[in-house]
Parts: sequence; structure tokens; C-alpha cells
Amino acid sequence: MNASATTAENSDKTHLVIKLCEPRGFCAGVDRAIQIVVLALKKYGKPVYVRHEIVHNRYVVDGLRDRGAIFIEELSEIPAEHRDRPVVFSAHGVPKSVPADAEARDLFYLDATCPLVSKVHKQAMRHRRLGRHVLLVGHAGHPEVIGTMGQLEPGTVTLVETEADVERIAPPDPQALGYVTQTTLSVEDTAGVIRALEERFPSLQPPASESICYATTNRQEAVKLAAPGTDLFLVVGAPNSSNSRRLVEVAERAGARRGLLVQRASEIPWDTLAGATSIGLSAGASAPEIIVDEIIEAFRQRFDVNVEIALTVREDENFPVNRELRDTEITAADMAFVNGAA
Ligand code: SF4
Repeated sequence: MNASATTAENSDKTHLVIKLCEPRGFCAGVDRAIQIVVLALKKYGKPVYVRHEIVHNRYVVDGLRDRGAIFIEELSEIPAEHRDRPVVFSAHGVPKSVPADAEARDLFYLDATCPLVSKVHKQAMRHRRLGRHVLLVGHAGHPEVIGTMGQLEPGTVTLVETEADVERIAPPDPQALGYVTQTTLSVEDTAGVIRALEERFPSLQPPASESICYATTNRQEAVKLAAPGTDLFLVVGAPNSSNSRRLVEVAERAGARRGLLVQRASEIPWDTLAGATSIGLSAGASAPEIIVDEIIEAFRQRFDVNVEIALTVREDENFPVNRELRDTEITAADMAFVNGAA
């Protein structure tokens, strides 16, 4: 673990180490999705409609709303007088029926589906082309799962949530099965489900490449490095953010005494931190860095803080935005918002 120490000048405060995970926070898919909305507002003006929360983070959604984005759940909510306005689909991906519906309504849409989610869609469709029934390992109701299931005809995909589900499912032909997974699952839990599936269905075929994405894997690895022995492990993220919730579980399993998901510094349970000497800190892939800074500052006000960086890997992934938006310039201030720094 690299140590970059910053010591507060006031020595009556209790000493506390913050083990800060790196990588953490925004991934390339989230960064791209936010950039698409910001660029669409610049190029086409207000309002720009966004179907579903573009990413699972209130701070980001509110920031985009302030800039002129209107969030909707269904395309039917776009009023007739705004049919000429762009509509953006979220990073989680959408069922095929959504772009088809947009075309039927003559809407102009920009798809912000993360390329790594689109890759899972393609792998699921490849299984189908090869005559396999698809087993999708993921969480019921998550928008990414709804989007992936919606790439395939009804009845050709079965959702598997847990190892216990493996015994319950009854696919049509056990000899012709392929699986894919949600991109944001716990690496270890998923390995357990897949082992159980392979034991029950020895002919099961894997996807052409790993479905769990680099950002999920990297954030979990950094948490495993930082968590052992910490009194509390904080993960910045929304309650509906799958990858953030997995980080809390990973932290507890890796040896944090307690893990907690928080959206802002105001949610930190200060009264439970008496006697704490070390905490872990990470952020889900949809949580902006500005909230991490806010939390560290809140700790500095109460403790004599040393920040130690728990670094596992440096990320340099970057996904280009949609072709229609590549000629639109972005200011430094907008870029800071896109990167989660403002
Ligand atoms: S968490 Fe992974 S799959 Fe989801 S948006 Fe980020 S990079 Fe893409």
C-alpha cells in the first residue's frame, strides 16, 4: 500500500487513518454517459430527455437536471411539442423494444449504453445464434438485467440470481445452454453461481469473454486491499447502485468490521466512530469524486487524519461518445463535472 500522508495541525484530535481505494468512483462507461448528456445539451439546447437515471447517482442526476435534462421513465412521457428533442438512453442499456419504440414515435435518440454492457448483449445474442438457451446471472429488476433480457425473444433467457436458484431452474434443453452475467456483480459470488451451474449442466458454454467489467473487478480488488482491520468501511454510492452495494459486501468479507453505503458526508454515523482508528473509503462506479473529497473533509474536521492510498491498478480506459456529438466542444468546467470533480 502506498502511503501519502496529510496530517492535521490540531493534535487534540484523535488520530485516524483513512485507507482510500484506488481505483474508485467513475468508470469509463459512466463518464461517457454523463458526457453524452452534457454534449447533447450543448449541441441541441434544452431540454434533453433522459430515459431512466443516466447513472445511479442523485448528485449527477440533479446536476444534469440543473443543466436542462428532463428525466423520464418511459418515452410516452415526452410531450407532443417536444418530439423534436433528443432522448438519451442510460448507461445500463435498454431492451430492444425501447429504440424500436423511439423509432415508431419518430424520436431522435442517443444511446449511452456502456460499450461493456453492449458486449454482454452481443454475447447473449451469440449464444442464441448458436441455438443455446441463455442463463443470465444477475439481479431481478436491475435496469441492466431488464436491458439484457430484452435483447432476446421471451422464453429464451432464464435469470439466475443465487446458487440456490441453480437447483430450481428448468431450462428447455440442458445440453444447449450458454451463460452471461450482469457487469457489476461480486466476482466471488458469481464464480460460486457459475461453478454450481457447471456442476448441474456440464455442457454449459461460457460467454466469449468475461461479462463482469474491468471497473467492477478493479474496485473490488482495491477494497480487498484496504478493508482488512478497518473499523468502518464507507462506500460512496446510491442504494440502487449494484456495484456500490457489492463493494460494501466485499469490504465486510475482506475483514472490515462494518461496511456502510453513504450518499453524502451527512449520512456518516459519527456517534459510532468513538475509538475508531482506521476507516476504509471507496466509491462505486457512479459516484463522483467530489463526494469522496467532501467525506475526507468531514473526517478532517473531527479527526487528525492520515490518508493512505490503497492502490491496486491505474485505469486508463476511455470510451468515445456517439459520432453525432464528437464535433461538440466541451469546456473545462463541463469536463470537471463529467469527471465527477465539480
Ligand atoms: S460499471 Fe462497468 S459496465 Fe457499468 S458503466 Fe461502468 S464500465 Fe460500463
